[in-house]
Amino acid sequence: MRILISGASVAGPLAAYWLARRGHAVTVVEKAPELRKAGGHAVDLFRPALEIARRMGVYDRITARRTGVELLSFRRPGDTRPARIRVGALTARAAGDHVEIMRDNLSEILYEAGRDHVEYVFGDSIAAIDDRVVTFENGPAREFDLVIGADGLHSNVRRLAFGPESDYATWIGAYLAVLTVTDHPGPSGRVDGVVAVDRMAMIYHDHTNTRGFFMFRTPAPLDYHHRDVPRQQTLLKEHFDDLGGEAAWLLDRLGDTPAFYFDSVTQLRMDTWSKGRVTLVGDAGYCPGPAVGGSTSLAMVGAYVLAGELARFSDHGHAFASYERELADYVQKSRAFAIGAARRLVPGNERALRTLMYGTRLLNRLPTPAVRLLTASSVGLRVHTSFRLRDYPG
Ligand SMILES: Cc1cc2nc3c(=O)[nH]c(=O)nc-3n(C[C@H](O)[C@H](O)[C@H](O)COP(=O)(O)OP(=O)(O)OC[C@H]3O[C@@H](n4cnc5c(N)ncnc54)[C@H](O)[C@@H]3O)c2cc1C
Repeated sequence: MRILISGASVAGPLAAYWLARRGHAVTVVEKAPELRKAGGHAVDLFRPALEIARRMGVYDRITARRTGVELLSFRRPGDTRPARIRVGALTARAAGDHVEIMRDNLSEILYEAGRDHVEYVFGDSIAAIDDRVVTFENGPAREFDLVIGADGLHSNVRRLAFGPESDYATWIGAYLAVLTVTDHPGPSGRVDGVVAVDRMAMIYHDHTNTRGFFMFRTPAPLDYHHRDVPRQQTLLKEHFDDLGGEAAWLLDRLGDTPAFYFDSVTQLRMDTWSKGRVTLVGDAGYCPGPAVGGSTSLAMVGAYVLAGELARFSDHGHAFASYERELADYVQKSRAFAIGAARRLVPGNERALRTLMYGTRLLNRLPTPAVRLLTASSVGLRVHTSFRLRDYPG
């Protein structure tokens, strides 16, 4: 089949790899002028995603570029004694197989795995889909048998096939901002931050960059346009001006940052993510919420399952239906986990904040079996580690 994929980040290149490997003629169209390299933010790969990487032969490349927060240290405003988590050791004890990697490094590895057998078109976007005929913003119209939207939370393919994002997006109460800082190459693998009720700000150092990460909750949605960066920065200042510490340090650098990201933490809820010849994969179809839901692993598993189901069934209608069935439980549980994670990450009252500080100190002192016992009952880890991958034909 001739298959068009929109989006070359995680789900797109991974689906492209598996579809091309099974003999399909695959084209990936990406809006950006080139593949984003060495930027973005850290993402988590759990056991099923790593198993897919092994099956693609890229596991070693991924682990070679793992970042890994080793130490997370945070304080309440005014406190001198921070709570510390040895994250690397703790995650290994709790989750076993887990890798953290910058999203753009992951994207590059997945792209390179398949690019010799996939046509990549950068700097273009789908303008219309009319059955098999696809019109582009820049290039000439072409025919495809299937179109896959792997173009993220604000998916263009979803808008064209299913209607406006507002019909499916649910704000889960929080906002997220990330900025890159150029003048502070701190110790790699370390996160320092300040946490208060409804707000947290962290500084994250990896091998190449230092980033600031803000998350905060508001009782009602904020009024801003998604392209209005000055307004977004003003909102950020309004919410963090009095927090001091890392927040103040980062806010001072807002004017100089080469990369600024601001978005609501939004969950996508669609009953079905396939329609006719079109289907969605990754954040485009079932984003549980950026930074809170383990959505990268979900995107990788989704892309793998979609390509696999297209190998199991000759008819795309059956393949899409089976793809959705296979993933439904994982998607549901990821949504529930994301809502809880947003609450845990940013405590909503004094009591929750105190529990976070004391709980963190306690967790470090527990022996491994106790950590396993505690985290085994954590919906999140079970959601992301328990998915069983099928072996698909080809
Ligand atoms: C600040 C932040 C922190 C995060 N932290 C984590 C974390 O700790 N752990 C975790 O697992 N996940 C995290 N995530 C989520 C993770 O980045 C996504 O789940 C993952 O990247 C999803 O991959 P995807 O391929 O589905 O979509 P995306 O990575 O969003 O990629 C979509 C691609 O489509 C392209 N595109 C968009 N519009 C068009 C168009 N019109 N035409 C063609 N191409 C288009 C984009 O340029 C992009 O390349 C975080 C996200 C954010 C924003």
